[in-house]
Amino acid sequence: MGKGRKRKSIKMGLYRKHGKSGYIGRSLLLLAGLAALLLLVPIGIVQFFSADRQEQKLVFDQVEVEAPEILVWLEESDTTVSVPLEEYIACVVSEEMPASFHSEALKAQAVAARTYSVARTLNFTPVENPQGHQKAALCNTTHCQVYQTQEQIRQNRSEEWMEEYWPKICHAVEMTEGQVMYYDGKLAGQAMFHSSSGGKTENSEDVFASAVPYLRSVDSPYEEGATHQNETVRVDIDQAVQLINSQLQGTQVTREEVEQMQVVARSSGNRAQSVQIGSVTMTGRELRSLFGLSSSKFDVSVEDDKLVFISNGYGHGVGLSQYGANGMGEKGYRYDQILEHYYTGIQLRTLQNAG
Ligand SMILES: [Zn+2]
Repeated sequence: MGKGRKRKSIKMGLYRKHGKSGYIGRSLLLLAGLAALLLLVPIGIVQFFSADRQEQKLVFDQVEVEAPEILVWLEESDTTVSVPLEEYIACVVSEEMPASFHSEALKAQAVAARTYSVARTLNFTPVENPQGHQKAALCNTTHCQVYQTQEQIRQNRSEEWMEEYWPKICHAVEMTEGQVMYYDGKLAGQAMFHSSSGGKTENSEDVFASAVPYLRSVDSPYEEGATHQNETVRVDIDQAVQLINSQLQGTQVTREEVEQMQVVARSSGNRAQSVQIGSVTMTGRELRSLFGLSSSKFDVSVEDDKLVFISNGYGHGVGLSQYGANGMGEKGYRYDQILEHYYTGIQLRTLQNAG
């Protein structure tokens, strides 16, 4: 490791407390522009890094590419910035998971975020992205992953937070440097995660369009510390009728029908999939969004003039449960075991030095 590079990592402020154990830095770096090239080479590749890290090159199937940074589109300013991947991951982890979580959960989050980021960069197709996002594979909002620059993090967090948690996050990233998940010889690029599942995660096809083999419904037994457990939302029935009818075209439901609404189909993770309201069928997700519920894992009943929704979990329920990961960490599971639990059949691989 060259001294110059060490100084650079200190300047970035990334791994100040852990500088000795191997700086993460600019070595694993992907170019969004690389994606075009990569479409031409078989995927399955992935020999990252040149033998000499100082050269800052990636090697894909013996093709060396200058690869300084990955590109992130900052929505609020409509600008695209280049960020070293590992620095980017640390900044994403700080925004996507409470830093007070167990260090093994933070490591699992880092690997999930890295896998997603690398896959998105490699498979970048501008047309799929909204306006402005077309020059970069990743943006800084929930559309991709929430990202703030180190400067923004420093501005938005207290000094105490920076002192206590930033090194903890950086350590989690550093301890998993370059590690990504693979499934069946390919990057497990849809490494989705959510806050809490309410006890069981979902098959991807029950929530999103397609069945992804590593996004299977699994128990999530250690979510005791999770927020949004047995959360009650009461909605005035007349208001509910109005809201529902505002979503319908060509038909309307009555107050009686709304009072008698019933969940008629549930997913394997016990989320409401179909809800019958008179002759109308709505999805649990539609009702979740309509009534601002934390999850579509809900029961509904009527009390006086109100619909009473009791929901469990927060988020879509697919992939890693962050609170579940935290609970597993507290029970003594390592990050690789956490990932193997929530992403069925995956293997961890490290993007390596070539040569
Ligand atoms: Zn995006």
